[in-house]
Amino acid sequence: CFVKLYIIRVKIMNNKDMEMLGKQPSAIRQLFEYGKNRKKIIGNDNVFDFSIGNPNVASPKEVTDNLMFLLNNVDPVFLHGYSSSSGHDFVKNAIAAYLNDTFNTNEDGKYIYLTTGAAAGLSIVIHALLNKDEEVIIFTPYWPEYKVFVDKALGKIVDVAPDFNTFLPDFTDLKNKITNKTKIVIINSPNNPTGVIYKEETIKQLANILNEKQKEYGHDIYLLSDEPYRDLIYSNEKYPFITNYYDNSIVVYSFSKSVSLPGERIGYILVGSKVNNKDDIFASVMGAGRALGYVCATTLFQYLIPSILSKTSDLSVYKTNRELLYNSLKEIGYEAIYPEGAFYLFVKALQEDSKEFSEIAKKYELLLVPSDSFGLKGYVRIAYCVSTKQIKDSIPAFKKLYDHYRN
Ligand code: PLP
Repeated sequence: CFVKLYIIRVKIMNNKDMEMLGKQPSAIRQLFEYGKNRKKIIGNDNVFDFSIGNPNVASPKEVTDNLMFLLNNVDPVFLHGYSSSSGHDFVKNAIAAYLNDTFNTNEDGKYIYLTTGAAAGLSIVIHALLNKDEEVIIFTPYWPEYKVFVDKALGKIVDVAPDFNTFLPDFTDLKNKITNKTKIVIINSPNNPTGVIYKEETIKQLANILNEKQKEYGHDIYLLSDEPYRDLIYSNEKYPFITNYYDNSIVVYSFSKSVSLPGERIGYILVGSKVNNKDDIFASVMGAGRALGYVCATTLFQYLIPSILSKTSDLSVYKTNRELLYNSLKEIGYEAIYPEGAFYLFVKALQEDSKEFSEIAKKYELLLVPSDSFGLKGYVRIAYCVSTKQIKDSIPAFKKLYDHYRN
């Protein structure tokens, strides 16, 4: 009897799903950690680490200047104190004003929730909307953490294939996959891992399909737009802000990439002004934020936001890297999608098993993330938010890797 009791206690000691998540970090993080160790052994310059989307370009000057100003001029009791759970009103109102100015929208700061980066924002929205067994549609290839957040919220992921010519969603597949359990459709443009951007035409098509399906099933389907790369577009393409195209739209933004502040963990959720029952939906966002422990995003960086809303880091570096990397790899013989935004290149692996391909690439000190965890086999992702020198230095290694397969 004693033994039995002991066994039962051991069994319920911790949550095994969480233990497994902790023991199996994402493919991106595993490779990032491998790179850190490898650099200690052979030196930073000898490892071509393309694993993680950590911007290599410094934040714009205004970030440092304005932080110094805040530190020197704002009473630390406020600057480092708690804000309301959803953030300070003056910050939320400044964000809404900026969005309205930039995208000609009619958003209200009242429906903005400041978060610790887009990751927290996405997890909050997913938990706020989903009931057990409801479905979330994601377009492959996708950022792997969506799956983690949906699993934790007891929802079901439904993958929709890309059109392999454009890497935009295959809308026929989408129509077939929407059911009466579909609650959320997640989009991410510019896209991680492909760099593809969804232009106005794509957003309009998507909005039409969702409106039809809402009517058919008689319930709300939310379009959740994950936008950490919104400001990283390398052409004059206008960004189609989704609240202008689809009523039940929720936006998650982050300052991690646009102004190179990934370690400061700051971003926001916007519940669009035309969302059905938006007060209840925003209350659910507040509730999920509370339940997950994501209240009061870092106050110092909340104070900074109003002064940097229209700023970006020097994007010309990424543009240079994109051209250099894309052209060099194409010249060698690789197949890749030309990225119009973000800072990732999605390249066809030289064998079907991209995990094995990534392992072989390590022999040439190239750290390339296999695409399996992005929901699509046979590719690798190269994060080119590194120094231009690293890209130049890595080209001979890419050539050797190519020759390894050709010989
Ligand atoms: N969404 C996508 C598509 C991302 O690539 C990332 C980070 O790389 C995130 C969300 C999370 O960003 P944050 O640093 O703001 O949590």
